[in-house]
Amino acid sequence: MVEYKCFNCNKKVSINYLRKKIRCPYCGSKILFKPRTTITKVKAR
Ligand SMILES: [Zn+2]
Repeated sequence: MVEYKCFNCNKKVSINYLRKKIRCPYCGSKILFKPRTTITKVKAR
């Protein structure tokens, strides 16, 4: 199961909801990303 995350409110959005429109059901943002994508954490220290 694929889930996206809203870039704006940071909530998980099910792919089922995005079948027709790519849009966050919570805040209406159209900017979503896949949290599965490797998130590189860099510690500067
Ligand atoms: Zn949102």
